[in-house]
Amino acid sequence: MLELRPNCECCDADLPGDSAQALICSFECTFCQACADTRFHGQCPNCGGQLTARPTRVGQALVNHPASTQRIRKPHAACA
Ligand SMILES: [Zn+2]
Ligand SMILES: [Zn+2]
Repeated sequence: MLELRPNCECCDADLPGDSAQALICSFECTFCQACADTRFHGQCPNCGGQLTARPTRVGQALVNHPASTQRIRKPHAACA
């Protein structure tokens, strides 16, 4: 099951589990749409893999299986 990290690890924008603005790589590195587009051009800065739209978890599913609350920040050259 996806971890659904709660924030962009670059700019710390909130990305709730039902947000359509979240992108992830295969390791679940998580970014907002703006960072993925303008800073990383669709490529994960950690692993080099493709960033793709994170599937949303909505309604009762999100209630029963809440998103992670552990905020993850990582320094990237493009975030400065
Ligand atoms: Zn961001
Ligand atoms: Zn990655």
